Amino acid sequence: MLTNARLFQQSYQHPQSITAAISQAKLVCERNNVRLTLAREEILKIVWLSHQPLGAYQIQDELSKLLSKKIAPPTVYRALAFLIDNGLVHKLTSLNAYVGCPFPNSEHSNIFLICKGCRKVAEVVHLPTNETIQDVCSKTKFGFDAQHIEVFGTCSNCSSHRA
Ligand SMILES: [Zn+2]
Ligand SMILES: [Zn+2]
Repeated sequence: MLTNARLFQQSYQHPQSITAAISQAKLVCERNNVRLTLAREEILKIVWLSHQPLGAYQIQDELSKLLSKKIAPPTVYRALAFLIDNGLVHKLTSLNAYVGCPFPNSEHSNIFLICKGCRKVAEVVHLPTNETIQDVCSKTKFGFDAQHIEVFGTCSNCSSHRA
C-alpha cells in the first residue's frame, strides 16, 4: 500500500514564498545549465505573486511596469517557453494562462484543480492516475510525453463560504 503522502501530493499555489520559488528556480537553472535572465526571473515573480493564473498579456503589462519600459510580446512568450521547458511554470491550456509550479525539482505529471469561484488553482500529483495513463500508453504503444489534466469545480474555501 502506498502511504498517503506518496499517494496524494497537493499544493495550492500559495502561500509558498516568492523568495523560496526564486531560489528553487535558480537551483533548477544551475542544474539544467541555463541562465535565469532578468526578464525570466521577473516573469516568474509575477506569476508567483498572482493568486490566479495569468494570461500572457497581463504578464506583459506587469513586466513593462516593473522594468519601466515597453516589453514586446515575443520577449514574454520566449521567457514563458523557457520557464515551461525548465518545469518552473505550467500553461493551463483551457484558460490560456500560466501558473508557477510548486514541484520544479521533480519530473511529474499533474492534475490541476481550477476553482470557478476564486480562480485559484491547486496542482496535484496523483501517482495512481499517472500509472494508469502510462499503462494505457504502453498497452497501446502510444509514446508517453506528459499529461496535464485540468479539472474545473469549486474549492473547499469557496464551497464553505457558499454553504
Ligand atoms: Zn508542476
Ligand atoms: Zn475557490
